[in-house]
Amino acid sequence: GVSDAIIKEADLSIRDLLLKNIDNKNIETHLHALTEKPHIAGSPEDEDTLVNYIKDFWENVGFDDVQTATYDILLSYPDKDNPNMIELLNENDEVIYQTPIEEDILTPGKNNTEGIPPFNAYSPKGIVTGQLVYVNYGRVEDYTHLDSVGVNVTGCVAIARYGKIFRGSKVDIAQRHGVIGLILYSDPKDYAIPGEGVYPDTWWLPGSGAQRGTIFTGQGDPLTPGYPAIDTAYRYEEGKTIPPLPKIPAHPIGYTVAEQLLVNLTGATVTEEWTGGINITYKYGPGFINNNWKVRMNISTQNARRNTTNVIGFIRGAVEPDRYIIFGNHRDAWVYGAIDPSSGTAVLMETARVMADLVKSGKWRPRRSILFCSWGSEEYGLLGSNEWVEEYIKNIKERTVAYINIDISVEGTNTLRSKTTPLLYNVMYETVKLVENPNATEIAAGRKTVYDTWLLNRPWKINGEIYGKPKMQSMGSGSDYAPILQKAGVTSVDFRYTYDKNLPVVGYPLYHSQYETFYAMKNLIDVDFKYHQAIARIGAELARNLADSLIIPLNASDYAWDLENLRVSLDAEYGSYLRGNISNYDDLKMVIKKFGEEAADFEVRLNNVNKNDPLLTRVVNDQLTLLEKAFLDPAGLPSRPLKKHMIMAESSNDYYAPSSFPGLIDLLFEIDKLADPSERWDQIRQHFAVILFTIQSAASTLRDVT
Ligand code: GLU
Ligand code: CA
Ligand code: ZN
Ligand code: ZN
Repeated sequence: GVSDAIIKEADLSIRDLLLKNIDNKNIETHLHALTEKPHIAGSPEDEDTLVNYIKDFWENVGFDDVQTATYDILLSYPDKDNPNMIELLNENDEVIYQTPIEEDILTPGKNNTEGIPPFNAYSPKGIVTGQLVYVNYGRVEDYTHLDSVGVNVTGCVAIARYGKIFRGSKVDIAQRHGVIGLILYSDPKDYAIPGEGVYPDTWWLPGSGAQRGTIFTGQGDPLTPGYPAIDTAYRYEEGKTIPPLPKIPAHPIGYTVAEQLLVNLTGATVTEEWTGGINITYKYGPGFINNNWKVRMNISTQNARRNTTNVIGFIRGAVEPDRYIIFGNHRDAWVYGAIDPSSGTAVLMETARVMADLVKSGKWRPRRSILFCSWGSEEYGLLGSNEWVEEYIKNIKERTVAYINIDISVEGTNTLRSKTTPLLYNVMYETVKLVENPNATEIAAGRKTVYDTWLLNRPWKINGEIYGKPKMQSMGSGSDYAPILQKAGVTSVDFRYTYDKNLPVVGYPLYHSQYETFYAMKNLIDVDFKYHQAIARIGAELARNLADSLIIPLNASDYAWDLENLRVSLDAEYGSYLRGNISNYDDLKMVIKKFGEEAADFEVRLNNVNKNDPLLTRVVNDQLTLLEKAFLDPAGLPSRPLKKHMIMAESSNDYYAPSSFPGLIDLLFEIDKLADPSERWDQIRQHFAVILFTIQSAASTLRDVT
């Protein structure tokens, strides 16, 4: 006979206990402890103090096992004895202005000498001197604009404002345009509102605040692409990595500092769109009003080999211990990291306690295993998670049902936002509908759950039409889900509470500055940690549902629906172009339709499966678990062999942004600039065939096998 445990439906009273037991005060206590000291990747504060804090806590709550996975990787730090500097030089090469090294101390008790001053990780060191040119946000279209107004940036030092795209992409694009060094600054138009004050009175960025951050455009340890950074690893030389490390120096500054450079620029006045919020007339440059002045970047940031540790905690599944739900968050921060990422770590810790307590009490053990992961060195380019995926790729790919990522959990209190792969849309909606609205005013207005406010504030418009559900964003890069989805093909979700999208900001203002303190979170954002609590409830219930349900709540039809939406968008933008050059272009529509038919047939079988037969339920569950992986191609994307997912990746011109059919988009980029595009079209036809094959082969995995 089949034992009861094997065919048991999930006990929903556990769900209610999970939601109820998550305590906002505990989350606050964790956030306080996690942000006591700066804890940059590779530092003793992160590698020892916080690794032990998390490991000890998980052992004490009674996880079945807690392991660490440590990798020897390449990081980057400023040189304490030789600080990074940007200088304005007069006609005699004398320094007439020099940028300060550190941000101002603004909160009593937070002494900035214990942290690391603003810098861009993996900037090459060196001294570059030249004319300064303003490049707006430093996107591809900004350089096109400069070209159209006759500004030549070649050989210049450029100054770009932060925002809109990933900073590493800004450096990459600058380099491609012949820029010799890039200064990144936070413009008050994007990070502050005149008259509203700044930190510590409000959450707006003060003038000396600068955004630290990596400028590497790869994922994982730069020296060991594709394979884990373990003892036996082969390490590339720094100059020969794939993708290459940045070749031009970069450095971040605040807006009081940037003003000293921008106010002196010469050339034509910029367009309104390019005008920022500093009280000056913005000019393009290149060069200064005083013809003989120059700007000098003196960057001494150094790459350094360090250890980085992931902490992995296990709750062993009762029935299917070999099936994993992974719940992860990075641990390392640029300074105190009270928003990024410790707001997420605090949530992970409280979720761990509540789940472990239920297991200890004997009331519950999930059907499948739940893994809790605290990733190291995310800020440098998703290093800890990526190396772990590379090391255990075979286990993770075969065994993992879904990955839940929380990076920042609360960066505002306006609404939820979620980046989600299609298989998880439905379970995400159903979960969020269960979670009480943390906002009393919203409840009074009749919006009782997080879902109600989400639907109001982020309605989904698909190809111009209102869909009636909250928006799900696609996944680019930017946090640890990227390697897990793109290399292991694990279906993933990443969510947080965020600010009002109508605010004129390009991110929460204190992002990656020294002012991301516990004080900021407690006094300026989530006063009683109710928004943290809501995020923890969503994460906990999502993990429980995926781990406990007899039939895994992944939805194959939503994949078909999403593919068709992506195809319609592709068609709207490139359709006539593609149709003219690919004779079987309409096959894309056909294979997506067939995929939809297979998914529908599969779902009929799924709904009728004999739930008393553990092997038959395992058959359909395996088909669901393996579906996302069927969209991987072992050869990878045409110009990005380590990115295996054929349907989604980050955009090559903005690593934060998602790109659908990314291989096609890469090959189409600037194709009109080629004198003879025939060879490129041949590559496009070849890759198009791979896409058609991939969708067909994914459909074949859903067929009846019983
Ligand atoms: N989250 C980090 C950042 O925004 C790393 C992103 C990445 O490398 O994709 O800077
Ligand atoms: Ca590696
Ligand atoms: Zn983060
Ligand atoms: Zn970050």
